[in-house]
Amino acid sequence: MAGKLTDFVKSTVQTLRGESENPAYPVTAITHVTPTVCRLLGIKEPKQCATAPAREVLQFFGEKKPDRVLLYNPDAVAWWLWEKYPELLAEAAAAADCILPLRSVMPSVTPVCFASMYTGAMPKVHGIQTYTKPVLKTETLFDACLKAGLKPAIVSTEGDSISKIFLKRDMDYYIYPTTQEVMAAAHKLIAEDAYDLITVYDATYDSTMHKYGPEAPESLAVLRQNAERYAALRHSVQKYWIGHTALIGFCPDHGCHEIDGGCGSHGLDQAEDMIVCHMYAAIAA
Ligand SMILES: [Zn+2]
Repeated sequence: MAGKLTDFVKSTVQTLRGESENPAYPVTAITHVTPTVCRLLGIKEPKQCATAPAREVLQFFGEKKPDRVLLYNPDAVAWWLWEKYPELLAEAAAAADCILPLRSVMPSVTPVCFASMYTGAMPKVHGIQTYTKPVLKTETLFDACLKAGLKPAIVSTEGDSISKIFLKRDMDYYIYPTTQEVMAAAHKLIAEDAYDLITVYDATYDSTMHKYGPEAPESLAVLRQNAERYAALRHSVQKYWIGHTALIGFCPDHGCHEIDGGCGSHGLDQAEDMIVCHMYAAIAA
């Protein structure tokens, strides 16, 4: 896929933009994650889930469906960054079976978007419609796993949306002060092969781009680091999930744009904030 990344970017830009300079948003939303993972794991999706599974992801698995899932959630990695800096994401795209342009949900802020991603529902259904981090009462992908007797785990940094809105489930949470500790724990959990679904959150691009701007050298260095972290997780899955078939995904929540003063922001109904790409790969170790 690495060699094809530039072709993919070109064709997707054409698809999204058509003849116009104003991109239309992709049809499929980030809500696809929950029904797609449920379908692949063969478990019942949450009842409020109103999105169809992404057939692009279903179809690259043959007869042998995955029994393990690892989702890496890098915050605020916008689609336009792929278009402009494909080389920075090449490490992550190297083994992708599918790269999927998607629309985020409004308002395009972290708790709203991750709530939609992990419930399969739009904000008015799951109830987080502003930048707040209440514990979700709506059924999530994690609840669907628990109901089916599968073990999910969340690995994330303290105070962040993913560390808060999915609490109060009978599952394991690994919450740390730093991203370095999050990544170390994620690799350890993969090596222990004790979970069916692992969600790993990475706030670093979001926090850096807010401070310095989306295209500042500091932010682009972190973008490359995000791609390398995903690739490293993929290698751990290949090494340790022996005898399993796994789905791994690189799944950002929303995009970002530059604002006055050289800082970055998001939350608006505009292409820079609303279009993201998820990529997925099948791994049979
Ligand atoms: Zn975010």
